[in-house]
Amino acid sequence: MSVTRAMFNQSEQHFECPYCGERISVLVDHSVPHQRYIEDCEVCCRPLSIECTIDSDSVEMQATRSDD
Ligand SMILES: [Zn+2]
Repeated sequence: MSVTRAMFNQSEQHFECPYCGERISVLVDHSVPHQRYIEDCEVCCRPLSIECTIDSDSVEMQATRSDD
């Protein structure tokens, strides 16, 4: 599912878009333990509210509709 590249302190995370259900991926920077940002879905271009928690080498991601 996810590939952790500790060397680069980044990993690619996959999740399903809450609007269109397509699987999309984002690059997560592990140097920031808790992140929250808005990113447009690369498939349907609608704004996603992404919340990301990094705990040593596991990454928890949540993508929700930003208009809720
Ligand atoms: Zn989408």
